[in-house]
Amino acid sequence: MKKTDVLVIGAGASGLMAAYNLTRAGKTVTILEARNRIGGRIHTITNELFFQQAELGAEFVHGNLPVTLQLLNEAGIKYEHAGFEMWQYDNGRFTQNGEFIEGWDELIEKLSELTTDMPITEFLDTYFADERYAPLRKSAIRFVSGYDTAIPAKASAKALGNEWQNEDDEHQYRLTHGYCGMIKYLADTCKSVGNQIVLGSIVKNIHWEKGRVTATTADGIVYTADKAVIALPLGVLQAKDNAQSAITFTPEIPEQLNAIKQIGFGAIIKVLLEFDHAFWHDDAITKLVGAELKNMGFLLSSEAVPTWWTQSPYDTPILTGWLGGPAAFDRKDTSNEDMLQLALTSLSRIFKIAPDILKSKLIAWNIANWTADPFTLGSYAYDTVDSAEARQILFKPIDHTLFFCGEYLYDGPKMGTVEAALSSGKKVARLIVGE
Ligand SMILES: Cc1cc2nc3c(=O)[nH]c(=O)nc-3n(C[C@H](O)[C@H](O)[C@H](O)COP(=O)(O)OP(=O)(O)OC[C@H]3O[C@@H](n4cnc5c(N)ncnc54)[C@H](O)[C@@H]3O)c2cc1C
Repeated sequence: MKKTDVLVIGAGASGLMAAYNLTRAGKTVTILEARNRIGGRIHTITNELFFQQAELGAEFVHGNLPVTLQLLNEAGIKYEHAGFEMWQYDNGRFTQNGEFIEGWDELIEKLSELTTDMPITEFLDTYFADERYAPLRKSAIRFVSGYDTAIPAKASAKALGNEWQNEDDEHQYRLTHGYCGMIKYLADTCKSVGNQIVLGSIVKNIHWEKGRVTATTADGIVYTADKAVIALPLGVLQAKDNAQSAITFTPEIPEQLNAIKQIGFGAIIKVLLEFDHAFWHDDAITKLVGAELKNMGFLLSSEAVPTWWTQSPYDTPILTGWLGGPAAFDRKDTSNEDMLQLALTSLSRIFKIAPDILKSKLIAWNIANWTADPFTLGSYAYDTVDSAEARQILFKPIDHTLFFCGEYLYDGPKMGTVEAALSSGKKVARLIVGE
């Protein structure tokens, strides 16, 4: 394999964005990807089983996010507002606009005044210990586990405050033909000038010295370049040496690998269920549950699989279940069949339909257990109280030769998102080109 200017290890959003910007700046790039597909945590399935189109990984653009929207507009990729009628099911009752939380504004204010960071559980126990705040504490923890997929006893209160103050529920989008279009655009730009993406390349070792990198794959193939962009998930970089995707560095880089350990990496299991029709639209269900759910976007509950959403504004009869944080860590080794059963039992309790009947309406299902996935080993990053400092170490290239890149290397309020990954890729490319 001929030597290139840069090796990019990992063909997810961050690695491809780095490669795309390097390509446009005239650099020669080789991208090494462990899987037999590109996209990493972006994985749109189309015409698979009965799913015409569904996202196993990233699905939404969470706000008017500059890097993502600029890229989509440049590529001419269509996106549209995701329908968002919010419902909550608790104590046998459906209520709309869940979750309106008593005391939330007070919580945000207190978080913005916080001078010394601490885990969110400690923050709640310190400032919101009173019994009247019990529902507030429960909702905050539910949010940290469910949305941030984090361990609340480790998650930074300050970072969560920053995230919650910058929420933009009004502007949530879906890509009309799936996130894969964006990934394909980046990859096609790289390939159009002869830069290569080598699939099935599990990189096991990176041997480096100033101005020269050699990457060796699990099947012994060696690639060389002047520099390397390490665009791997945090879960892989934190993995034990015996993990299939684990990577070693020669010489070792203890300061950086120690910093990697200071950033949290959550857990997620996403469940996709396609039914023969959108049964939650049925008049019989409206009567049975006492709520009109035809425009339901999101549904929050306290069931074992607690969060659900539809494909609203489309009528596609798919319900997506979401189990994040400690509960997903606990279920990491649960079989797909058992996860399906758990999901159906949760829905059965919510919609008051027996699990067997629900199962008979099911025409396709898919369990995306990203925490068990060997090339991800988790969901996405969250901040611990030590993360901000750790990131400063990882932002710095090693000897102008090794560059870290990924959704976890981002300082803005949209940590862990596609926006964060794209921003990181763009930043690293700019660093390399500017050298
Ligand atoms: C279930 C789920 C839902 C999500 N929903 C959203 C959402 O709605 N909106 C949003 O903005 N974000 C969402 N995210 C987060 C978003 O998907 C990620 O932040 C982003 O895609 C990460 O990009 P990345 O390039 O940093 O990492 P990745 O996409 O993980 O890319 C890393 C690549 O490295 C490869 N790799 C691993 N080990 C090796 C090795 N040893 N050698 C070579 N290659 C290797 C992997 O296969 C992968 O392709 C979601 C994530 C998950 C898991």
